[in-house]
Amino acid sequence: MKVLKLILIIIMVLSCFSMVACVGDANCDEGHDLNERCVCSRCNQVVHDMGSGCICQRCSVPNHTNENGVCTKCNKLLSINGNIFTLGLYPQTKVTDTSLIDVLNQSAGEAPSYSQKGDWVSYGYYKYGDMENDAWYIDKEYNGEKYRGVIFSDYRPYSTINSGASSATYQDDNGYLEETVYWFKYEPIRWQVVKQSNGKALAISELIIDSQCFYTTINDIRNNGNQKIYANNWEYSSLRQWLNSNFYNVAFNATQKNAIIAESLDNKTTAYDGSYNNYANCQNNTTDNVFLLSYKDVTDTSLGFNSSNLRKRSTDYAKAQGLYSSPNVDYRGSWWLRSADSDTSSMVTSVDPIGTTGSQYVYTTSFGVVPAIIVNI
Ligand SMILES: [Zn+2]
Ligand SMILES: [Zn+2]
Ligand SMILES: [Zn+2]
Repeated sequence: MKVLKLILIIIMVLSCFSMVACVGDANCDEGHDLNERCVCSRCNQVVHDMGSGCICQRCSVPNHTNENGVCTKCNKLLSINGNIFTLGLYPQTKVTDTSLIDVLNQSAGEAPSYSQKGDWVSYGYYKYGDMENDAWYIDKEYNGEKYRGVIFSDYRPYSTINSGASSATYQDDNGYLEETVYWFKYEPIRWQVVKQSNGKALAISELIIDSQCFYTTINDIRNNGNQKIYANNWEYSSLRQWLNSNFYNVAFNATQKNAIIAESLDNKTTAYDGSYNNYANCQNNTTDNVFLLSYKDVTDTSLGFNSSNLRKRSTDYAKAQGLYSSPNVDYRGSWWLRSADSDTSSMVTSVDPIGTTGSQYVYTTSFGVVPAIIVNI
């Protein structure tokens, strides 16, 4: 009996295979007869013609290889929801779960100090005009999520030349105190598309994601050959460097970097009315992976900005870094543009909490960073 059962099973299995095979190769040995939807009229198989790209050359069906929202074959960003997409990770929301904080504190080891820093990394923030080592961070992973721990031995002043007194910082106003470890969760960065054309999208982060000075000192008028470099020159700014090394490398993995297009930026066109700006006129174009919007971007109407959609909220992490966050305007912050002020070599254009444009001294550390990127779509 057992043998009979076995034979029966074998026959059933074989007949199944032969059924599939008979549908599969019904008169299609010499090739299928495919319609415009790539369905064979004889055997009903769907056979796409992907060529070397990710779109079928016959029916236009896409077949991307998605990794973190980016196709690893064609480097396109795969999903935009309305005008929002996510790309990259950055520390954002403060961790409040005390048991998670305990676990993270355990894994970070002893909190750093002037004499020992363990695995903690110094931010190298400025005070009295010099770089100091009294603020640190550490990145830790737990349960598949990534977190950043932050501690300051002394406050970060709102300009690079001030002391770390509580009267010269916004960190305490934002609820972040000296000698305390705070943890922030790495979360997807939400980007807002402001322009789409020719398979590319220009986008800015929805939130102010950090707080940084534009340049570390206002006095530095450097000489580069015959050219005078002023403190408000984007090309030579510390913020350009920070965005294209620190931020770029922390936020994006290799696949995500491939979706970002570095384009030549016009750093001369700063005014919507085309008025002459001596400090902008001497600036070269730069080719940047990550940049800031120009004064023209936010003041002429082509990108659709106005004083209401220029009001920016910020992440907890940006507030912990000392961002000025206005209690009168729903805790919106000020943020940098990349264009030079037209009158003062030590000032750069910016947007304030109520969404109007102005200028600020480059060494201000309480102004926010709203990165801009161009992605392949
Ligand atoms: Zn066929
Ligand atoms: Zn097809
Ligand atoms: Zn693709």
